Amino acid sequence: MEKLYSKMKIFHYKEKLDSLAKDTENITGPIHIRIKPTNICAHHCVYCAYRSDNLQLGKDMSRKDSIPREKMLEIIDDCEKMGVRAITFSGGGDPFYYPHLFETVTKLSATSIKFAALTNGSRLKGDLAEIFAEHGAWLRVSIDGWDDESYSKYRGVRNGEFTNVMNNIAAFKKLRGACYIGGVIIVNNANFNHIFELTSRLKNVGANTVKISPCIVGDNGPKNNEYHKVFYEQAKEQIRKATEELLEPGFEIYDSYHLLEEKFNKDYRWCPYLQILPVIGADCNVYSCQDKAYNFNGGLLGCIKNQRFMDFWFEDKSRFYKIDPLKHCDHHCVSNDKNKFIIDYLETDNGHMAFV
Ligand code: SF4
Repeated sequence: MEKLYSKMKIFHYKEKLDSLAKDTENITGPIHIRIKPTNICAHHCVYCAYRSDNLQLGKDMSRKDSIPREKMLEIIDDCEKMGVRAITFSGGGDPFYYPHLFETVTKLSATSIKFAALTNGSRLKGDLAEIFAEHGAWLRVSIDGWDDESYSKYRGVRNGEFTNVMNNIAAFKKLRGACYIGGVIIVNNANFNHIFELTSRLKNVGANTVKISPCIVGDNGPKNNEYHKVFYEQAKEQIRKATEELLEPGFEIYDSYHLLEEKFNKDYRWCPYLQILPVIGADCNVYSCQDKAYNFNGGLLGCIKNQRFMDFWFEDKSRFYKIDPLKHCDHHCVSNDKNKFIIDYLETDNGHMAFV
């Protein structure tokens, strides 16, 4: 298995890179889109960023929203015409609660667009599991509790749900197809001592990857660091142990657990990544990224309720530069490093390019 996680993937798309700056007239379609089909989810995770009152992310989210079936099929048609390479279904809610997901991925399976999903794993069964196994690129199951009791406490779900999810992952691995399945462990002050145990369990049921990420407890860096510093070294020790003892060909651990300050400070004035990986919400709004989804004053690029996504995207390039990261993004940003690499690449003086 080659590396699944890399911050440099965008450098394989030169045409896209060369279209990003304001002074180029060219507009190209996004490479990858996150679609949030529904905001409905039956889990009630204590750390869920979309349901937390103290984060800008999700502050204007309506829990009942869902993309109408016809709109979703139209979006998929547009993505194909725009040359979109990949779609990830994520939340808001859990994509597997969207009643038209099977029809949507069946349509996608007939295109060259790769697709993937983030899910809690509870509904990873039946036709949906089969079509993802056969045609999907990857699935990532979010997880936090390390056994039935702790999992139920984290998520406000019935006892036994952890076992159900683990069984679903194991059964998924036995299906025909090349779809990767992984877990994402969201580290907080209750599970940091169980990272090794949970990573091992995920490996034992057949997960290909485990990503380890911090839970976000506030919009500002110091507040997050204050929370994580208390158990940071112990969590890192667990990750080191997992990496030393569990890593092998076919099983990847992606350590994304870090103190957060550097993710929050931006020194650049436009965001390349919002043209590369935008978000379509369950409210049929287009947002700049997964860190600003459902924030009308911060991340909203426009609405496609009464307009095709493709027409919206190519209509007006200036909308891509209204967000100034230095002023508007003083919070977590998953694309911060990638934005910095791209700006560095684009701003290199042509006359000095040869001095590599
Ligand atoms: S800089 Fe980061 S947080 Fe701001 S719009 Fe871009 S991707 Fe989103």
